[in-house]
Amino acid sequence: MTATLSVETPSLDRATERVPVAVLGATGSVGQRFIQLLSNHPWFRVHEVVASDRSAGKSYGDAADWRLETLVPNEVSRLTVKNLGADLESRLLFSGLDSSVAGEAEDDYASRGCAVISNSRNHRMDPDVPLLIPEINADHLDAIDVQRKRRSGYIVTNPNCSVMGLAIALAPIERAFGIEAVHVTTMQAISGAGYAGVASYAILDNVIPYIGGGEEDKIEKEPRKILGTWRDGRFGDAPMTISAQVNRVPTIDGHLMTVSAKLRDRASIDDVRAALESFEGEPQRLGLPSAPKRPIHYIDSPDRPQPRLDRDRERGMAVSVGRLRPCPLLDFRLVALVHNTIRGAAGAAILNAELLKARGLL
Ligand code: NAP
Repeated sequence: MTATLSVETPSLDRATERVPVAVLGATGSVGQRFIQLLSNHPWFRVHEVVASDRSAGKSYGDAADWRLETLVPNEVSRLTVKNLGADLESRLLFSGLDSSVAGEAEDDYASRGCAVISNSRNHRMDPDVPLLIPEINADHLDAIDVQRKRRSGYIVTNPNCSVMGLAIALAPIERAFGIEAVHVTTMQAISGAGYAGVASYAILDNVIPYIGGGEEDKIEKEPRKILGTWRDGRFGDAPMTISAQVNRVPTIDGHLMTVSAKLRDRASIDDVRAALESFEGEPQRLGLPSAPKRPIHYIDSPDRPQPRLDRDRERGMAVSVGRLRPCPLLDFRLVALVHNTIRGAAGAAILNAELLKARGLL
């Protein structure tokens, strides 16, 4: 595949030249973040919104139980919500669909020639679908060529919200020294469960040491694909073992995780820290609109990162890391934090689409 590395930024006043996009699952927790983050986006504009039969036919303003701190953008509030499966004018689709319907619907739209940028788990592990974090594995986009042998469009996915924080924190260390084993315990915010999510009576004054939908399995498998290779037309997993334990905690946004890891090569704590602090990837080199200037913010204070204080760094697109220190069991340990509905979901998908546009794949 030939990658076009120059980025053309349409100017803000030429709004009609922005790429029209549809948001699937636009009324949900992730869907609302898409609407918020795409408002005034320099390259994309929301043209269509899609949700279930419960919402279809209503204006978006009436259908969405809007819960974000900014107002619903006027131009989206007026749009009529379309049924899933409807013919769409947009060729670029962002999906925040419930996983019960995402698999089939995303396949269907990709077969109709659309580029589907998905948050859902359904296609993440498909053998020709990139599980993309542009800072880490932009080369995995070459899998699109293989995917296009079976359909005219394609699907690109972003990882589970906790995996996003874990994979970004591990990537520079894995690249520099190799990682053999990881143990991670997550403390995940309630917005990760969607609006229907967890009843307040269950989560207030409480911690629930279980998250359904195969959460631990995703955290143990997805980073290996992301940190692995795309070679000779197939993905190869990074050779590391991950053990995950997940908890739902009563924060609104921001998944916090404690991580211990064993290295393949010897490295001091200072070496590991230097790798974390110097990390950057293709979004930073290309200056993509949603790219954080620094994907990892290392914070020195001994009691950071914290969800309320650190989740919004770089508009929610940076992963915060702190408390790097030796581990008596493995080699080192640290704490990482990711904004689950921004860097861990909608913001991630938008950054993926920006990379696709920059490479001439839209
Ligand atoms: P959510 O708040 O429950 O929203 C689900 C969306 O899917 C709504 O727009 C809903 O439309 C639509 N939907 C549900 N059933 C449908 C059907 N039968 N036909 C058509 N549309 C249907 O869920 P969410 O938290 O935003 O999560 C969305 C997806 O992103 C999930 O696959 C989730 O695993 C993934 N994800 C979530 C997060 C997070 O932090 N929340 C992070 C990463 C990935 P109605 O409003 O009309 O019912």
